[in-house]
Amino acid sequence: MKILLISPEARLWNSRTHIHNGLGYLAGALRAAGYHALDIFDGAVEAETLAERLTRDPVDVVGISTPTPLIEAAWEYARVAKSFGAVTILGGPHPTLLPDESLQPTQIDMVVRGEGEAALVQVVRALEQGAPKNNLAQILGLSWKDAQGKIHHNVARPLESDLEAIPLPAYDLFKIERYTNLQPLTDGLDPNARAYTILTSRGCPYKCTYCSKPITGDTWRARSVESVLQEWEMLVRELRATEIGITDDIWNLNLKRAKALCRGLIDRGLNTVPWVTIHGMKVNHTDAELFCLMKQAGCRRVGFGVESGDPEILKNVVKKAQTLTQVRDAFKHARAAGLQTMGFFIYGMPGEDAATMDKTTDLALDLDPDLAHFMIAAPYPGTALWETVKRDGKLYARTWSDLAIQSDHTHFEYPGMDPKLVEQKWHEAYRRFYFRPKRLWRKATQLDTWTHFPERVKDAFRFFKA
Ligand code: SF4
Repeated sequence: MKILLISPEARLWNSRTHIHNGLGYLAGALRAAGYHALDIFDGAVEAETLAERLTRDPVDVVGISTPTPLIEAAWEYARVAKSFGAVTILGGPHPTLLPDESLQPTQIDMVVRGEGEAALVQVVRALEQGAPKNNLAQILGLSWKDAQGKIHHNVARPLESDLEAIPLPAYDLFKIERYTNLQPLTDGLDPNARAYTILTSRGCPYKCTYCSKPITGDTWRARSVESVLQEWEMLVRELRATEIGITDDIWNLNLKRAKALCRGLIDRGLNTVPWVTIHGMKVNHTDAELFCLMKQAGCRRVGFGVESGDPEILKNVVKKAQTLTQVRDAFKHARAAGLQTMGFFIYGMPGEDAATMDKTTDLALDLDPDLAHFMIAAPYPGTALWETVKRDGKLYARTWSDLAIQSDHTHFEYPGMDPKLVEQKWHEAYRRFYFRPKRLWRKATQLDTWTHFPERVKDAFRFFKA
C-alpha cells in the first residue's frame, strides 16, 4: 500500500518556514505500523505539481491535512489524487470541525476527526484487507461514505492520554533543505537553515474566544522531560538542526516542568542550538527564573499573546485569563534575561471601539517588543468568536480562504463596531509601532535590515495602505 501525506500549498502565507509536524507524526505512526512505502508532499516547498508527482510515482492512498483557510486547496488536491485513482482522506482542524461539509465533494472518501495517528493506521489496514466499507464502521473518529454516498460518522476517538505511545515524527521524509528558518521576519530569511520543530505537549485548558483546538483538545497532556530531551538530542546530534521551534499550544503550563526541560538542555550541552517557542508563551505561567533558564538553555526569543490593552476586552471578550500586570511582568523578566521579545495583538473583537483599540496600540508601544504582530480578529469555526459572530453579527468571508489570519481586512460585522475603523486602527498600529524614531534607529543599526532591504520595503508599503 503506497501512501502520500499532503499539506496543501500555503499560498495564503508568504513562505513555509517550518515542517508540518502533524504530517511527520502521521508518517511516524504509519511507519511504526509497518508501512514504509510512504512520502510527504508539502505543496509549499515542492518543485513539481501533485499531478506530476503522481504521474511519476502513483500511490494508493492520500491523506491531506488542512486548516480552515486551505480547505478549498485541499479539495483541489484531492480531486487531482482521485483522478489518479487514489483513496482520499482528509484530516486536520477544518475536517474535524466540519466533517459533513468536508466530505461533500465527490472526490473525498473519508475524514479523520481529531488526532489522526491511530485512526489513519487503522484505515490503511482496513483498505488493505479489502471490502473497506464493511471495515470502516469500527474505526473511532472516522467519517466516511458508503456505496450509496451516504455519510456516516463513527464515534469520536478519545484523546491519546500517553503521548509517549505515539511514535516520533518521520523527520527524514521532509525535504528539510527547502524550509527556511523559523521566524524569517525577525531573523531574515536563511535558506540554509535546518529548522526542526518539536512537540513537548498537546492541548490547552484555556478558552480564549478566538482560539480553536479541535485536534489537540482542552486537556493538557505532556511528555516526560526525559523523552523530550532524547528527541531534542536526536534533532541536534543526528539531524544537525540549526534551529528548533517548540510548537505546543502552551508549553509552559507547568512551570516546574518547563524549568526542568531548560535545565536538561543545559546539562546535556544542547544549548548551543538556538530555539524559539513558535506559538508563544502564556504570561501567567512564567517567572524571572524561567526566562533566565531559557536564555541559558539556548532560547533566542519569546512571544506572548498580549491580544488587548483594554482590561475589559481582555477579560470578558478575549477571555485570555491573564492580567495586564502579568503581561508587563513577563516582558520585563524576559528582557532582563536577555531574550528577544515578540507580542501578538488583536484588533476588532466584538465590542471594540476606537478607545479600546488605541489602548492596545499604546500598550504595544509601551511594551516595545522586538517584533509586534497586529492581527485582525478572524472567526474560525470551532471558536467561541465564530458562535458570537454567527449569533449576533454578520460574516463577510465568502470563501474559507478569506479567513486567513494575516489578512488586512475585517472578516465580520458586529453591532456597534465599525469594520472600516478596525482596519484603520490596524494600519495605524503598524505605523505607530514600526515608524517611530526610536524604532527606526534601532532597525537602521541592525545588519539584517540592510541584508533584507527589498523585503523590508515591501512590508513597509502595506502599512501605509489605509
Ligand atoms: S490561545 Fe493559547 S492559551 Fe488561549 S486557548 Fe488557545 S492555546 Fe490556549
